[in-house]
Amino acid sequence: MKPVILRGIKRALKTRNGKKVPLLAGHKLLYKCNLTCDMCPFWKRPDEKLLSIEEEVKIMDSLANAGVLFYGFEGGEPLLRKDLPAILKESHERFHTALVTNGWLLKSRIGEIDNFLESLFVSLDGIGFLHDKLRGATGSFAHAVEGIRAAKRHGLSVAISSTITRENFHEAEQMVSLAENLGVKINFQPAFNYSTAGALSPYGQKLLDTLSKLLQMKKDGAPIVNSADYFRSVINSWYHGVPWTCKPWLTININPQGRIVMPCYVLQEYGSDFSKPVWELNITELWNTYDWQEYESCNKCALSCYAEPSLFSWTKRDTVKDFIFEPAISYARRGLHQRHPKESEPNIASLPIVN
Ligand code: SF4
Ligand code: SF4
Repeated sequence: MKPVILRGIKRALKTRNGKKVPLLAGHKLLYKCNLTCDMCPFWKRPDEKLLSIEEEVKIMDSLANAGVLFYGFEGGEPLLRKDLPAILKESHERFHTALVTNGWLLKSRIGEIDNFLESLFVSLDGIGFLHDKLRGATGSFAHAVEGIRAAKRHGLSVAISSTITRENFHEAEQMVSLAENLGVKINFQPAFNYSTAGALSPYGQKLLDTLSKLLQMKKDGAPIVNSADYFRSVINSWYHGVPWTCKPWLTININPQGRIVMPCYVLQEYGSDFSKPVWELNITELWNTYDWQEYESCNKCALSCYAEPSLFSWTKRDTVKDFIFEPAISYARRGLHQRHPKESEPNIASLPIVN
């Protein structure tokens, strides 16, 4: 954590005079996935040659130099990569590191990655049958829940990541109860309709009712990661015509070939305008010459990784408590307690892993 704190101070100095500095980074390690969600465009994309560990480290050094403090890995399914532990280890030395997984392989690989993560997000979009249907594979729910339990036993800070679609919004309250029963938190975000995937994004009164219900549950103390401000801002924007100010420059996304995705991964659908990898670019110069202004009132998506940092302010007591104070306490507690012994080692040979 120390390098992050020191670099946080350096970053704060960099942002003087209104300079734009990315705060968090997201990186798809591959598009390949072992599941086939209808609303997801990524698993259908062929992966070109994946980056080597040396190239992944070059990305990390570029991001660290640019001011990034938080680094999240996703896919496709990142646990399909054999070299994931090595990548996470390098990231852990530089950043507050998070992983997003569908959880299928989590139980078998948790012992390889548990030491290198500050946060783990397991995606779950329904209870039992509905989740399996949305993922396109029977057993997805059971594997994800087993993975969450295993990660908890390994002392990790775990949250469910749940995408609200028109097929599952009626289960949102049950999803919160599931999180409570598992002793984890849960983050929600409405699905975005990508051009090359099933259009499952919810809308209308039913979505409004769901967001309002989740806002109330948050206020009542349910273990919901989203800030109350997030729900209020999305409702105000989509239902009352009062936009929130999007700051996509706070989040930098890197595709599996190491190319920057600008202005945000939603509008680019994870494509890139760059022919060079991120380590051959000057991020600071790029960030401060790009015309971001037209995206400030976009509000097209409600993805947490863009909305929450955009909405954050040190003057908002609740969000400071949710995103600074409580994670810091949890991190300190985790450091004080010795980990449980690792579960049996995974049988790597039996996994459909790549790279
Ligand atoms: S599990 Fe995630 S990456 Fe895989 S198909 Fe579903 S949404 Fe896409
Ligand atoms: S609101 Fe618009 S600019 Fe902001 S992240 Fe979403 S799609 Fe991109």
